[in-house]
Amino acid sequence: MTSDRDPQGRLHVDENLKVLGQQHVYAAGDVAYAATDDLGNFAAMCCQHAISLGRHAGSNVAADLLGVEPTPYRQPKHVTCLDLGAWGAVFTEGWDRQLKLVKDEAKALKTQINTLWIYPPAADRATALAAADTMIPVA
Ligand SMILES: Cc1cc2nc3c(=O)[nH]c(=O)nc-3n(C[C@H](O)[C@H](O)[C@H](O)COP(=O)(O)OP(=O)(O)OC[C@H]3O[C@@H](n4cnc5c(N)ncnc54)[C@H](O)[C@@H]3O)c2cc1C
Repeated sequence: MTSDRDPQGRLHVDENLKVLGQQHVYAAGDVAYAATDDLGNFAAMCCQHAISLGRHAGSNVAADLLGVEPTPYRQPKHVTCLDLGAWGAVFTEGWDRQLKLVKDEAKALKTQINTLWIYPPAADRATALAAADTMIPVA
């Protein structure tokens, strides 16, 4: 399979995460060079984007097989939360990284992200399917 790649080796995909030039191949997470919005921003190699990309790629693979409309991937809100050890953490919003929280407040959020938000769902059918919903808002 030959496909265009970005400078980091990621596969170019369309808005439904189908690899450009491929009929039935989808990409998600760190291997997908996917537009997050119409402003020229692209997914970073991070959990925030990988989770939503995974939901959309999985859903669109199923839609492809079933012959129903796919759900375009869009994730316009972008945040970063950087743990700085004992000092605390830094939380920013937007691609221009506007500072929103620092120290203990940001650290509490980082702990929540690492212990709750990015944790895989329990290994049972209902929980896994619920966690795969593309309509779940992800920052
Ligand atoms: C040290 C480190 C720290 C990070 N810290 C952060 C952070 O603080 N915040 C953040 O947002 N992101 C962080 N990231 C990035 C984040 O982990 C990735 O962006 C995210 O995990 C990508 O998800 P993914 O599903 O694309 O790939 P992965 O999570 O890498 O999952 C790919 C899976 O595929 C499996 N696999 C590979 N080849 C095969 C094969 N041939 N057959 C079957 N299975 C295979 C692998 O074993 C792996 O389980 C960090 C990454 C690293 C390495």
